[in-house]
Amino acid sequence: MKPIQVSGLAELSAHTARWRAAGERLALVPTMGNLHRGHLALVEAARRRADRVVVSIFVNPTQFGPGEDYERYPRTLAADLEALASVGCDLAWVPEVRAMYPLAHSFMLKAPEPLAGKLCGACRPGHFDGVVSVVLRLFNQVGPDLALFGEKDFQQLLLIRRMVEDLALPLAIEALPTVREDDGLAMSSRNQYLAPEQRRSAPLLHRTLARLAASLAAGDADWAGLRASAWSELESAGFSCQYLEWVDAETLADPVPGQAQRLLAAALLGPARLIDNLPVPVRQSAEPAAPS
Ligand code: AMP
Repeated sequence: MKPIQVSGLAELSAHTARWRAAGERLALVPTMGNLHRGHLALVEAARRRADRVVVSIFVNPTQFGPGEDYERYPRTLAADLEALASVGCDLAWVPEVRAMYPLAHSFMLKAPEPLAGKLCGACRPGHFDGVVSVVLRLFNQVGPDLALFGEKDFQQLLLIRRMVEDLALPLAIEALPTVREDDGLAMSSRNQYLAPEQRRSAPLLHRTLARLAASLAAGDADWAGLRASAWSELESAGFSCQYLEWVDAETLADPVPGQAQRLLAAALLGPARLIDNLPVPVRQSAEPAAPS
């Protein structure tokens, strides 16, 4: 069944209030639309965990920088609503910019610099301020018990978890692994910007991360050497690398032995900015555990 399509706050609140009064559990999946299987996996997971599923579709202007792709970001509402009908979404929340940001001068959150100022945040100044600001608005508008996000946007996921913790927001955050094309390319609305030849090169980003993760897990200690050769291989294949980092999965600072670690990369390939990330399997220490 097609979801109810709502673009006004009063109508949204009428539905959510009715569901809450009936004791139903609400899940929210925030998206910018142009839905693909990555988004739909989040909706299916939401369906399993809640009685009612709200999917927001909003291309958020405050997370795009000057000269980025806000204007040409693909907007495909009719197809999105069809896709949502197939996975059991109850309500599509599709606000206009004015409904999301009603004031001429909006209140905006500032995402903390140590997490938000590196990786994607260093390449896209202010991006994560826009992300956390719109996500907080969505949480306030919908009032979900649970919201689901993809690991595809790993730094975003981390910041949202921190925001929920820091502001004591009354909901749970759940993450799902990245959904990929058969050749390993992480699904993304921006993949359609790629020309056919660029599309053929694009899976190299994932292959490179997978190879680096395997080398690190096997104990190769020469990260600088591994990184330099991976970077130049990507550049030779037509990528313009923005970052390629091996970090602690909680703090995004230098990796700490024995703690969860992540490899993250961003690169331009022609007109598309691609991002990807993978966990680095943590090596178990060979030393016996200290007696407790
Ligand atoms: P977006 O529409 O790009 O803002 O993404 C909306 C949500 O879908 C975010 O939580 C993303 O992390 C998630 N997402 C996007 N692409 C994928 C993917 N390939 N696999 C899993 N989740 C994804």
